[in-house]
Amino acid sequence: MQSTIRVRFLKGVSQGEQISLSVLLSIFYLLSCAVAPVAASGPAVADAFSRARQAMVSEQLAGRGIHDKGVLRAMEHVPRHLFVRDKLRGRAYGDFPLPIGHGQTISQPYIVAFMTEIIEPQPSHRVLEIGTGSGYQAAVLAELVAEVYTIEIIPELARSAEQRLRNLGYEKIETRQGDGYHGWPEAGPFDAIVVTAAAEFIPPPLIRQLKEGGKMIIPVGSPFYIQHLVLVEKKQGEVSTRRLMPVSFVPFRREN
Ligand code: SAH
Repeated sequence: MQSTIRVRFLKGVSQGEQISLSVLLSIFYLLSCAVAPVAASGPAVADAFSRARQAMVSEQLAGRGIHDKGVLRAMEHVPRHLFVRDKLRGRAYGDFPLPIGHGQTISQPYIVAFMTEIIEPQPSHRVLEIGTGSGYQAAVLAELVAEVYTIEIIPELARSAEQRLRNLGYEKIETRQGDGYHGWPEAGPFDAIVVTAAAEFIPPPLIRQLKEGGKMIIPVGSPFYIQHLVLVEKKQGEVSTRRLMPVSFVPFRREN
């Protein structure tokens, strides 16, 4: 269609004019290509993302009972759209999980907020996360605590999350590739542990690496069946567990 119009338009002009017209059209085309991506990542778009983020916080989080001011502030600050692939950016602030490749997902914003609030993060805390994925949960934690250690079993995801977190300037986050079942003994014990993949049972090394008075939040249940978020607390050496709500997480995998 476009080319037909152009041919008709060019019919009425001489050879020399045709050349200069094509040159002009090419320059126009090149300019529009050069300008479009700049506009797509410019201040107007940044504003649109920050408005979407504010709406996410007030409607999906505060509106559903997340009340920790620090958690709400953290989630209003972390640019969630930079933790998903380019073509999914427009959906980053929706009320759902999104694919991050390799069959894994970035959790729904409400679930991230809930898991962050329940461990009662403090500025002095050192927190371990199992299941780095995109790095989003780690970034939210890093807004609230002193140190975050995060482990991812899939090498490609571990690498891309490390890169992303470095580019975004998250210096408090240490990343590692490996099986999080074993935790991170050299860095433990931790004030809190956040597990973002569903395990069939609570890995004993993680319980050992939880500080006295510490809290762990972990989805427990069989893959593709019913799972519950379980809050594990260690008080005076005693470990208690409490089921909080049904959830659906990707499975906790094991190396080998
Ligand atoms: N917290 C992530 C969500 C990741 S989904 C985010 O904010 O994006 C769960 C992640 O746990 C997946 O990336 C999966 O590969 C990882 N995972 C599963 N089993 C694991 C294990 N044993 N050790 C470390 N990571 C694991």
